[in-house]
Amino acid sequence: MINAVSTHHPFIVPVFLPHAGCPHQCVFCNQTSITGTPRDILSMEKVETNIHGFLKYKRDYHRSAQVAFYGGNFLGLDKDHIKGLLNVSIKFVKNKDIEAIRFSTRPDTIDADRLDIIKDYPVSTIEIGAQSMDDRVLAEAKRGHLATDTQRAAALLRERHYETGIQMMVGLPGEDEESSLSTGHCIGELAPDFVRIYPAVVLKDSRLAKWYRNGRYRPWSLERSVAQVKKLYLHFKKKGIRVIRMGLQAAEDLDSGAAILAGPYHPAFGHMVHSEIFLDRAVAVMKAERISKDGAVLKVHPRSISKMRGLNNKNVDILKKRFHIQSIQILPDSSIPEDKLALEI
Ligand code: SF4
Repeated sequence: MINAVSTHHPFIVPVFLPHAGCPHQCVFCNQTSITGTPRDILSMEKVETNIHGFLKYKRDYHRSAQVAFYGGNFLGLDKDHIKGLLNVSIKFVKNKDIEAIRFSTRPDTIDADRLDIIKDYPVSTIEIGAQSMDDRVLAEAKRGHLATDTQRAAALLRERHYETGIQMMVGLPGEDEESSLSTGHCIGELAPDFVRIYPAVVLKDSRLAKWYRNGRYRPWSLERSVAQVKKLYLHFKKKGIRVIRMGLQAAEDLDSGAAILAGPYHPAFGHMVHSEIFLDRAVAVMKAERISKDGAVLKVHPRSISKMRGLNNKNVDILKKRFHIQSIQILPDSSIPEDKLALEI
């Protein structure tokens, strides 16, 4: 096992194993449509060719790289299959093309026996698909595990010094803002190294699609989802936990709508969350000052300009209306931290 490798922003070589090792299909899930990868189990040769092919996109020689097994329940595969996939990856580790291996898995498949299978391999990071910490919501999503499974799994991974990520969803059937926030609080207590937050969308050919059609499930709106994910993001930030993704990864099938029937998918979901945070901050500082009717100048770090502006200048328009001012200028200032802003009047 590799402990404490340089896992910040590694180059990720994804290997999608749609539904491999899953005991059943959870109501919101259809990995075939999100990953655009067919459901057949990939042969080891194919996995090796995929890794080779993807590594060609790595331009920065000094950047570390990791093979990532996603889209299924890695530790739910049979022992030989787990070892086979790790053995293929090891070849690249030996050549120094890859530094470490990561995967995502269900909390109820993380136990001492399964962790023993992988203990001699350079696995650095394990992501737990928790989705919710509310047993009622987990039952409605037909997850087949409890919140205590996630608590136990996180403790085991910590004991074995794995970098640990936790994935949660927002807007699952039976979930409201309070349940979702309480999930965020419970996950925060587990102190993972990072989290991913996904709004629930209705994927074609999922059980949720059927429930959506017969009126049993109504997805959250984009606005509601962004507002909730913002609260969760701020909570994790306060706890010093990195949020490495908000919203589904944009993919051709998602963007074309081919894979999604309904729900709060937006290719710039994370950007929208950050923009709302900047809007809240701007409103707070502008409320505290006497603003001239002619206009105001907001300064932000150059990398935060588009977050401050919002999609299609939405934040600028809102601020102008709210404070009855003619113009708002947003200027870059690299002396300002990336998550802060300064008002010049
Ligand atoms: S959510 Fe995870 S465990 Fe459930 S079907 Fe999808 S990949 Fe499998």
